Amino acid sequence: VELPIHDAVLGRAADFGDQPALIDGTDGTTLTYEQVDRFHRRLAAALAETGVHKGDVLALHSPNTIAFPTAFYAATRAGAAVTTVHPLATAEEFARQLGDSAARWIVTVSPLLETARRAAELAGGIREILVCDSAPGHRSLADLLATTAPEPETGIDPAEDIAALPYSSGTTGTPKGVMLTHRQIATNLAQLEPAVPAGPGDRILAVLPFFHIYGLTALMNAPLRKGATVVVLPRFELETFLAAIEKHRITGLYVAPPIVLALAKHPAVSRYDLSSLRYVISAAAPLDARLAVACAERLGLPPIGQAYGMTELSPGTHVVPLDRLREAPAGTVGRLIAGTEMRIVSLDDPGRDLGTGESGEILIRGPQVMKGYLGRPDATAALIDDDGWLHTGDVGHVDAGGWLFVVDRVKELIKYKGFQVAPAELEALLLTHPEIADAAVIGTYDADGNEVPHAFVVRAPTADGLTDDDVLRYVAERVAPYKRVRRITFIDTVPRAASGKILRRQLREHT
Ligand code: ATP
Ligand code: MG
Repeated sequence: VELPIHDAVLGRAADFGDQPALIDGTDGTTLTYEQVDRFHRRLAAALAETGVHKGDVLALHSPNTIAFPTAFYAATRAGAAVTTVHPLATAEEFARQLGDSAARWIVTVSPLLETARRAAELAGGIREILVCDSAPGHRSLADLLATTAPEPETGIDPAEDIAALPYSSGTTGTPKGVMLTHRQIATNLAQLEPAVPAGPGDRILAVLPFFHIYGLTALMNAPLRKGATVVVLPRFELETFLAAIEKHRITGLYVAPPIVLALAKHPAVSRYDLSSLRYVISAAAPLDARLAVACAERLGLPPIGQAYGMTELSPGTHVVPLDRLREAPAGTVGRLIAGTEMRIVSLDDPGRDLGTGESGEILIRGPQVMKGYLGRPDATAALIDDDGWLHTGDVGHVDAGGWLFVVDRVKELIKYKGFQVAPAELEALLLTHPEIADAAVIGTYDADGNEVPHAFVVRAPTADGLTDDDVLRYVAERVAPYKRVRRITFIDTVPRAASGKILRRQLREHT
């Protein structure tokens, strides 16, 4: 039978009963499975009583908290599509998302209430702002729990109705509302589950944001579906993160490359007992194989696994199965999951399929391909062709064993005198320099109008003496001449999205 997402995830919650589902990593507050199950049903009833109908859009505007999943599943149970909002969004950005999605309800937290109010004012059409915690003049989740209204009968059609409406990260353009049906999200969970099984006794640390589809899937839906415990942190701060791993005996981490970088390089890591960890999975942005090895060796773990996907793919298509971490070739993002098709096609001649080892654009077809971008049929048609193939915009190749390697995004490849240079490869190389703490590469234009690789470098705290020439030489000694970095700018931090992706547009503004 086909289930809406809240039933697909919480269908067995009653069996897990008083086991901890969610623990607040800051103050230790715990929600058991029985509580999450009961609370989300009560809240769904209250939302329905308030006037939330099937098809309404509810904006969930919150950092990671233990209440977030309950609010999410309550809203979907009431029939709403949840549009998750970046907790650091400005009122203007939030208002744009509210307007674009035609949201009628906001669920926020008291520290973000002012932003939510301004956004609601700017956008119009908001019926009520609810708060997860408490704030004068607004109903809280606790208030709503007191309802005696019956659970709503919403008649959700999992194949058609939208459960989540995340906005794509906006790394490459304007954020677009990604319509994901109950079926798409639930199917993708089931597709990924055999590769990365979880169960009671597993303790997952949720530091990547739930509002992003990666966090929503890997840190919320997947572990809660299997009776694991999710320890929740509102943001990444290295020492708090390490202390939480030690204190809660965390067994599995889903992270993005900047966290792998910190785990591999930061001196604080050796001060904590991280011996409970059994695996680390990285996704959302390119991860260099050398960095992955350095991190795994330092933590005494099997190789770091990767997963690959995008918001428009609900989100996953590839993952390194946990039982194959040791045999997977270094740098792979994994193997194609069940029920999904992939092609690699030529960048110059997009109709031509490429063979083993040849790099081209990654195309995906499968049940997890989004329903479309909300209100943007042209953008949807530009991404998904008439045969149902989604053109990822990513460049990759597959080896003889079926392992996928992602090179970079098509649009970010730098064309140096006719050769293609992948920024991700140069970034990874720069990070191997002991005096470089972080790095990002974009193409900029030299005086003759040629596009050249331009590196933005963050010096390690002890590396005041590191010069442009040192960095240029370091790269030149290790890559083919056409890949050399030609320009250097030293900066304090690399601008990154919440998902860990480098914000290259912001670097461009630097030049
Ligand atoms: P927008 O589409 O709004 O510009 P975005 O593409 O950054 O934003 P997401 O859907 O969060 O938004 O990210 C998907 C992209 O992340 C993929 O297309 C790919 O470029 C990158 N990505 C995901 N996983 C990996 C991985 N394991 N290795 C390399 N890149 C990855
Ligand atoms: Mg994208």
